[in-house]
Amino acid sequence: MDAAVETIEAVVARLRDWLEPLPGGEPVRVADSVGRVLAESVTAPRDVPVAPLSLFDGYAAAGPLAAGESCPVVGKQFAGDPPTRLEPGTAMRIFTGALLPDGADTVIAQESVTVEDGRARWDEDVSLGAGVRAAGADTREGQTLLERGTQINAAMLGLIASTGVASIPVSRRVRVALLTTGDELLAPGEPFAPGKIYDANGPMIEALLVGAGVEIVQRAVLPDDPTVIDARLREAAEADLIVTSGGVSVGEADLVRAGVEALGRIDHWRIFLKPGKPLAIGEVLGTPFLGLPGNPVSTFVTYLRFVRTAIDRLAGQTDPSAWPVQPLPLAAARRGGDRPEYIRVRRVEVDGRVQLEAYADQNSGLLSSLAWADGLALIPPDAHLAAGDTVEFTAFKELGL
Ligand code: AMP
Ligand code: MG
Repeated sequence: MDAAVETIEAVVARLRDWLEPLPGGEPVRVADSVGRVLAESVTAPRDVPVAPLSLFDGYAAAGPLAAGESCPVVGKQFAGDPPTRLEPGTAMRIFTGALLPDGADTVIAQESVTVEDGRARWDEDVSLGAGVRAAGADTREGQTLLERGTQINAAMLGLIASTGVASIPVSRRVRVALLTTGDELLAPGEPFAPGKIYDANGPMIEALLVGAGVEIVQRAVLPDDPTVIDARLREAAEADLIVTSGGVSVGEADLVRAGVEALGRIDHWRIFLKPGKPLAIGEVLGTPFLGLPGNPVSTFVTYLRFVRTAIDRLAGQTDPSAWPVQPLPLAAARRGGDRPEYIRVRRVEVDGRVQLEAYADQNSGLLSSLAWADGLALIPPDAHLAAGDTVEFTAFKELGL
């Protein structure tokens, strides 16, 4: 791979080309399937509803019905009752979700009916089939409900459940090894020592990975020690994807880079993006490796733009990593730098208009800017933006964060 400067989109496209969906799948209970990716399309085994149902509480009859008509009411049909038969020339009391009796095809809402001496009379015309949900109105037997490669959400889960399917084939979870590196790192809870900092990236990326539905098979904080790094990378190669933070620039202590090179290969994709340098992409004993920068905001942004893509692709998603953007005006003037820059912003309402306010200090080491923000705004290179000019905004909530 060459060292040419690449756009964000080009890097996303290269990741998709490079990584293949993982082989193999497993059945899961539909109830547990949210976030999983379908390994095969799901087909409806029956019509839903299986037979015509009443849409509301009322009276079932043979339609069409003319205003002013009346007939005796014979019988009651509740939701869940087995099929019954409507005697010709009568109406039957019926409730929402109840099966239409044989011989009935129309339901008159109870509000339009007057019952006197066991006879129902309606004061409006009712067309044939009104008040009925027809068999197959929701889904039809044999219909493809959801395509292979779809990531299941709660609504899709409901749809599958409505057809009576209890188990579906999904891709197996992507198994990720997560290594944070640096002699300076202390795990939260360890006593503080001069010169040290607490490992923020580890817990942060772990939370992102868990939210993405992956299985974390290895998680370690590594010192800047070549022997330890070598041993841990070898273990990590058992996973489907290795994600690291720190140690991949060209400083003396950037030993992850050397460790990966010794066990495979590493390419520095010079991404036209701030914050985000350096991002290293490679392989360790044949396992894909993504080395994220150590600065926490850079880690977070490169995770969102690139690691998500990698995971979705490995999980077999057909439409991986949509990056939702929404045009919104900036609250204050801003200049672009030499690269496209994601700045941390918050939506604020000024005079009834939603605008984007930028965090005052955009340094990529400041986690306070990320925790304050509700999304990222993209400032194009060399831009001279005035207050009110529109930029692309990506809300963290839209990314499921
Ligand atoms: P590096 O990429 O290893 O040169 O790290 C760049 C900067 O990010 C340094 O200031 C590191 O101390 C900091 N850093 C690296 N890893 C972490 C981490 N896991 N949590 C918080 N800060 C980190
Ligand atoms: Mg380091």
